[in-house]
Amino acid sequence: MTKAPYLKIFRSAPDQLQRVVPRCQALSRRTKLQCGAASAKGKRVCKWHGGLSTGPKTAQGRQRCAEAKTIHGNETRAIRARRSTLVRELRVLAEIGETIGLFPKKRV
Ligand SMILES: [Zn+2]
Repeated sequence: MTKAPYLKIFRSAPDQLQRVVPRCQALSRRTKLQCGAASAKGKRVCKWHGGLSTGPKTAQGRQRCAEAKTIHGNETRAIRARRSTLVRELRVLAEIGETIGLFPKKRV
């Protein structure tokens, strides 16, 4: 299966001006292929795939959306922060190990 071009020329009638716009990035649930429609202005998906949506407005709605968009929970802000702290600690330990000569020098 070849990947469709990202940009596509759309025109609704032959006498109308051509518009080069990004193609909708949504995948069809039925055919499992990329949607062929033009994406909505300033959006990555077409009007049928949520391009006209303005998103949640209220704080309650944004919270509900954030909870609903949790796909697997393997990557959360807390886990990322913990990993970042651990990597920082590891770097400090590696520097200490380098200074006291814990690691043998690499041969070139
Ligand atoms: Zn679409």
